[in-house]
Amino acid sequence: MAINESMFIFPEAELVKQTEICKICKNIVVGKGDLNSKILFVGEAPGANEDLQGLPFVGAAGKNLDKLLNNVGLSLNDVYIANILKCRPPENRNPLPGEIRAHTPWLVKQIKDIKPRVVCSLGNYATKFFLADGVVENMDGQPGITSLHGKAREMIFCGIKIYLIPLFHPAAIIYNQKLKPLWEADMEVVKEIIKKATEEN
Ligand code: URA
Repeated sequence: MAINESMFIFPEAELVKQTEICKICKNIVVGKGDLNSKILFVGEAPGANEDLQGLPFVGAAGKNLDKLLNNVGLSLNDVYIANILKCRPPENRNPLPGEIRAHTPWLVKQIKDIKPRVVCSLGNYATKFFLADGVVENMDGQPGITSLHGKAREMIFCGIKIYLIPLFHPAAIIYNQKLKPLWEADMEVVKEIIKKATEEN
């Protein structure tokens, strides 16, 4: 059972707690960063280090993400970062549709609280979730990250006007260094969109 479970008592958290992965994880990983930031990064699910520490992106993928953000003058502390799943799936397997259905109402609650202007979706699951407007049944029919990365679009998600920027998952860049120049080009788009969003306010 997650050690921080009793800290969260609201309907969206109860949905998470009912899932098997929550019963076997060490910590519920809510998110980290600046809650007042207008930039939200959304990953897939906690890994082993995140599960142990109760924080997202503290393992290898997180270190890589921080390094990649530093290159464009950003850091994980300047943004808020959360995941599609709040608990680690065993052996880091892919999220199941039922888990996404049960865990994302909490993410949507976070989005409504933070009201981000720019959302960077990391990898396929996060990208498809936004493109499907949060309807899990519609995620499968969405195009993949290979064709979408770096292409910003303005959209309404849960009543909030956002720029969505799909990005490769930072773990993918560790395994496939060929993606690094593509990521660097995509980060120029992130910089440009952040500037545009800031000027609009
Ligand atoms: N990968 C993710 O998608 N999220 C994390 O928190 C860590 C690794």
